[in-house]
Formats: sequence, C-alpha cells, structure tokens
Amino acid sequence: MIVGGGPAGLATSFTLSARGVPHVLIDAQTKPSHKPGEALSPNARPLLQKLGIEHLLEHPAHQQYYGLESCWGSEQLEAKSFMSELHRNGYLLHRRLFEAQLRVIAQYTTQFFGEGFRLKQIQPSTQQGQQWKIAIENPAQNHLREIHAQWVIDATGRKASVCRHLGIQKQVIDEQFAMVFKAKLEREVPHQIWVEATKQGWWYVAPLDRKHLTMMFFTLQELIPTGEQRASFLAQQLASTLHLKKIISTSTLLTDQIQLWPAGTTCLEVPSGEGWLAVGDAAHAYDPVSSFGITSALASGFYGGHTVADLLKGKSEAHGVYRYILENAFQAYFQQLITHYGREKRWPDAFFWQKRFPTLVDANA
Ligand SMILES: Cc1cc2nc3c(=O)[nH]c(=O)nc-3n(C[C@H](O)[C@H](O)[C@H](O)COP(=O)(O)OP(=O)(O)OC[C@H]3O[C@@H](n4cnc5c(N)ncnc54)[C@H](O)[C@@H]3O)c2cc1C
Repeated sequence: MIVGGGPAGLATSFTLSARGVPHVLIDAQTKPSHKPGEALSPNARPLLQKLGIEHLLEHPAHQQYYGLESCWGSEQLEAKSFMSELHRNGYLLHRRLFEAQLRVIAQYTTQFFGEGFRLKQIQPSTQQGQQWKIAIENPAQNHLREIHAQWVIDATGRKASVCRHLGIQKQVIDEQFAMVFKAKLEREVPHQIWVEATKQGWWYVAPLDRKHLTMMFFTLQELIPTGEQRASFLAQQLASTLHLKKIISTSTLLTDQIQLWPAGTTCLEVPSGEGWLAVGDAAHAYDPVSSFGITSALASGFYGGHTVADLLKGKSEAHGVYRYILENAFQAYFQQLITHYGREKRWPDAFFWQKRFPTLVDANA
C-alpha cells in the first residue's frame, strides 16, 4: 500500500504496476492541491522516459526553460544556459496540472486509488502473509476502511506520516522556510529562473504563466515577521537585491497572499525497514536551491517500486541496494549544498549566513 499521491507515490505506483505488483494508493486530497516547486531540471528527462511519462510535458501549460541567472557569492549576475548540454531545456511545470496528469495514469496502475483518504492507524496484521493492518479514513464521506498489506510505502512528503506512526526518527538538518507569493507581470519575461542571495536569505523567481511570476524568499523562521509586517519585510528584501529589483521592476507584488513552507533539508534515520519503505520528501527532503525535489521524488519512487517488487520475489539484497542508492545520492547532494552555501561570503556577520552554514557543516561531521 502506498500512502501519498505526490510525484514520489505516483512514480512508485507506475513502477509496481510495470512489475505486476497489485497495490492500493491513497492521498489525503481529493484533487491535487497547490504545492510550490515547479522547476524540473533538464537531467530529469531520462527518468521521465523510464517512467513512461515524458509525453505529459508536451501540454502547453508546462513551459520549457533554457537556463538561469544567478547572483551568488559576488555582485555579478552569472548566466547558465542549458543549450550546450545534452538535454537543452528543463521545464517550469504547471505543478497542479502535472500531478493531475499523473493521477489519471494512477487510475489504471492501482487496484484502488483512494483520493480523499488519509492514514489513520498502522498496526501489525494478524492475517497470514500480511505485515500491516492499516486504517484509512475519508472524513468528508465519513468513510473508514481497513486494509491488510505486506508492504507500506511512505510517500507523504515532509510529514513522513507513516514513519511517524512506525516511530522512525526524522532528522531536521536546517530550519529554512520559504515565503511564497506571486507577482503580476506588465510585460513578458524570458523563460528562465533568477536566483539572488541577500543578507537575510535568497530569492528564487520564475515565470508561472504569461501574466505571473512565482516569487520565493528563503530565510530562517526567526527572521520572518508576523502577519501584516510580512509584506513590507519582503519589499525590503527585494529592495536589497542588486539585480532582481531591476529585472522585475515593472511587475506588481501580490503580497496580500503570502504562504510559508518549510524548505530545509531533512532525512530519516533509515529509508526502509521490515515491510516499509519511504520515498520522496518523506525519506529525504532537499533544499530547493538544489532543484532536486521533484526529480528525486520520481527517482526514489522508481527505485522504491523496484525494491518492493524484488523483495516480493525473494531478492533480499534489494533492501541494501535501495538504502545505498538513496544514502549515496543524499551524501552527494549534501556536499554540493555545503559548497554552494560556502561560496557566499559577503555577509559573514549576518544571522542567516552565520547560523545556517555552521549548522550544515556540523550535521555533516
Ligand atoms: C518552497 C519550495 C519550493 C520548491 N521548489 C522546487 C523546484 O523548483 N523544483 C523541484 O524539483 N522541487 C522543488 N521543491 C520540492 C518539491 O516540491 C518536493 O520535493 C516534491 O513535492 C516531493 O514530492 P513527494 O511526492 O515526496 O511529496 P509531496 O509532493 O509533498 O506529496 C505528498 C502527498 O502525500 C499526501 N499526504 C500527506 N499526508 C498524508 C496522509 N497522512 N495520508 C494520505 N496522504 C497524505 C499529500 O496530500 C501529498 O499529495 C520545492 C519545495 C518547496 C517547499
């Protein structure tokens, strides 16, 4: 049974189905909900092909993007183009549509897709050949069900709800938060991403559609003011940029709706165990500066699905292989993260940079 129907849970379902493993999938939301995060990097392409979902990106609502400009570690705005690389473009996804497209496929890959069902309880099963007795509920329909399963897969994102029920510890490596809002465009901008570091954090800006930008300011929770002061805080942070304020000077900030999202690095003590496995953000959640999130969620769903299928066939080494793949990828990410933040030395006394970087170094020691 898969709990969670985001990119990780859905990729797990597609893989299990391709391997002939019957399964059920539940997601707490009846329809895909709003989630931040839309940049799919060019190197995700082979994975999408493997999962058989590359064609979904042909929908005109998903925009191709060809590079990024970044001001990080110096006052220069440095351009990185994908045009000379193997895969020449990434995608700025219409995130809700992308997940809706994946959900349509899941109607065919699952035995039962419980949209609107959430996990209520997990206990050991007394049924022969089954490991878990899982209670799920659909509160809107006052519907309670019990499912017996050999495997439970935690694809619940940063909440890691299944692991919480099983008592698996999650390590929160840093407490970065994203302040997310939109800006209205007066004229079209190039299809690319802008990143700029400031004294109190860093900005990520990308076109959302023809008329809007998605704006994200990443900072520490301690620096985020309450309620009404948030809009002026964001205006100050934007004014402190060297480049971004000019690039978006003709757009209107829609700061009447600011959302806060946890956006730091977290990892489980172990990503799998007897009869359970975690995929996507539930296993390892990445700092969005890496643009790893969606690709890693799909990848761990792909490998997680194969792991369960192999274990059901008695290939006991699959557990170790899964852990090795996930933990190696996480270590590589972590090294890159430390190097990346370490490049920014302009504000050695600022709270964000002072507090943040030593924490990361300690966690890696
Ligand atoms: C501010 C921000 C910006 C980001 N930007 C990017 C980006 O540009 N590019 C990128 O690649 N990544 C980005 N990410 C990361 C990316 O969004 C995540 O890595 C990705 O969504 C992880 O997918 P997932 O399937 O593991 O989890 P999720 O997408 O979180 O899906 C989890 C699903 O589980 C369901 N669920 C939760 N609890 C339960 C329960 N108890 N019972 C049943 N269902 C449950 C939820 O409804 C949800 O649909 C960003 C993240 C943040 C916070």
